[in-house]
Amino acid sequence: MAVVGCGAAAGGTSAPALPQPSPAGGAVAEGAIGTAAAATEAAPRAGTSASASAPAEPLAGKVIAIDPGHNGGNYRDPGYINRQVDVLTEHKACDTTGTATRSGYTEAAFNWDVSKRLVKILEARGAKVKLTRTGNTGVGPCITQRAAIGNKAKADAALSVHADGAPSGDHGFHVIMPKKIDGPVDPVVGASRKLGVAIRDAFRSGTGLPYSTYIGSKALDYRDDLGGLNLSTVPKVFVECGNMANPGDAAKFRSPAFRQKIAQALADGLQNYLT
Ligand SMILES: [Zn+2]
Repeated sequence: MAVVGCGAAAGGTSAPALPQPSPAGGAVAEGAIGTAAAATEAAPRAGTSASASAPAEPLAGKVIAIDPGHNGGNYRDPGYINRQVDVLTEHKACDTTGTATRSGYTEAAFNWDVSKRLVKILEARGAKVKLTRTGNTGVGPCITQRAAIGNKAKADAALSVHADGAPSGDHGFHVIMPKKIDGPVDPVVGASRKLGVAIRDAFRSGTGLPYSTYIGSKALDYRDDLGGLNLSTVPKVFVECGNMANPGDAAKFRSPAFRQKIAQALADGLQNYLT
């Protein structure tokens, strides 16, 4: 929050072990997502014509965990969201509500929309995708659980989707990778860096957004305070797609076409890493 506020900073990572109170209803159409696998069957690859140019199913056999940061209902249950969880390097809140644009477009909604688009693309390319939440009306899961979901799926790659809440004059995107912490993430720190660079390169060329003006080096940042990274045993990175408090970045985020462009870029980055 303070400096970089999407909650990645404050805690927008992964979560505790309570089974997510999944908002079953809601996402009928958009969301047969719980297990992306289910979504695949449920939703024929229709709307995904965009991937037509890609070779048949380049991601066949790959498992990918997609973690849309925060959740639209987090603000309703501060008791749950603020409870402290152990991320190995510290104890911090289970999650945060995330940030929002000045016009009120929430980060949770943005993360969810981009993730849904991303899942469709990845599944059309043959990947099996696991999502950490099933809609944008529920609460949680905590950052520790978000990491556990990717671990349990034995994901070949995991990506947490966020947008930042920095001072309004700052803009641009960045990727956050794990550091060694004498913990479970250590063996995948190297692979996570490769994944992070692949995501950074694809995001830059696919969206045209500039590297962050306020954090990291060439849009690459490393942190040891995020539960979603510290607790991951599979290659994992966070992407902060831009700064929601910046009018320029926010205007782009509000465009569905631009969110599709972001999803496409993220899919390309994942594919470049995995193939
Ligand atoms: Zn966030």
